[in-house]
Amino acid sequence: MASSSSMRGFALLQQRGRQVWSSFTDLLFPPKCGGCQTVGSLWCAACRAAVKPIGPPWCEKCGEPFITDRLCANCRTHPLQIEKIRSVALFEGVLRQAIHRFKNCRTLYHPRQTLPL
Ligand SMILES: [Zn+2]
Ligand SMILES: [Zn+2]
Repeated sequence: MASSSSMRGFALLQQRGRQVWSSFTDLLFPPKCGGCQTVGSLWCAACRAAVKPIGPPWCEKCGEPFITDRLCANCRTHPLQIEKIRSVALFEGVLRQAIHRFKNCRTLYHPRQTLPL
């Protein structure tokens, strides 16, 4: 049976292996910003600043911003089957580009690397 210290040693080795692997892949495929394609990170500071987070008021059903009533016109005429959904930011500009790139080129991004908004 493995002792806890050797288990910890194995975890450290795994972590080290992952670090070596990611610096190797960064060298071959340097990370590019999903918004503006600048090399260096997956989401640069300029693109992060350009994303407009959605704040209230929003539709209680679909999260559509800038409404005066409890539900937006869409939800009043065609109610959704779901209880509630909400966007965290406006789907425009660099965020729109990044999401389109992500959809068109899945292999370049790891699914666990989400946009740090
Ligand atoms: Zn960028
Ligand atoms: Zn709505």
